[in-house]
Amino acid sequence: MSITYEQLLQGNRDFVQKELDVDPEYFTKLAQGQSPEVLWIGCSDSRVPANQLTNTRPGEVFVHRNIANVCVHSDMNMLSVLDYAVNVLKVKHVIVAGHYGCGGVAAAMGNNQHGLIDNWLRHIKDVYRLHAHQLDLISDPRERANKLVELNVIEGVFNLCKTTIIQNAWKERTDLMVHGWVVDISTGLIEDLKVSCNSSENLGKVFALS
Ligand SMILES: [Zn+2]
Repeated sequence: MSITYEQLLQGNRDFVQKELDVDPEYFTKLAQGQSPEVLWIGCSDSRVPANQLTNTRPGEVFVHRNIANVCVHSDMNMLSVLDYAVNVLKVKHVIVAGHYGCGGVAAAMGNNQHGLIDNWLRHIKDVYRLHAHQLDLISDPRERANKLVELNVIEGVFNLCKTTIIQNAWKERTDLMVHGWVVDISTGLIEDLKVSCNSSENLGKVFALS
């Protein structure tokens, strides 16, 4: 699956031509603005592209990706994307999308040092620590990693719900939901973890902001 630098630029020209063949005004219309209803927060892994996996088109999904789809309230990059998506674009769905076979999650489960990234993966080690009682009971390392992938998504959903951005938006509107998904790369299919939230109710007292 090797791709050359020149092939990327040729690929772009092919893509543009294909779209123009269908609709000569396609890019003129696209340039007029965006009003996506979905924010996708996913892993940077090259196998989990938001648009292809959801069969959506340019303009339909606002995207933020980082290694292992970590959602923490101290990440200015993620918060800026979230704020813009929720308060300016007024998206209706915020989706945290993890994936089985995530290298970041696997690395976080181990004890080897990987350099700078260990500081980022620490957030996933914290998820492990929170759920160690459940995870330590799973003897198969792959199954345990899969469970940690799911728990990392669920914690990400709750972390988003705890932000002032989401909580303030919920005071103003009821059409904003936060969801947790996992992509199974081996089938291409998405599993809905059914942790969708649309209110501050289940956050736990200490996190609710008045
Ligand atoms: Zn990943």
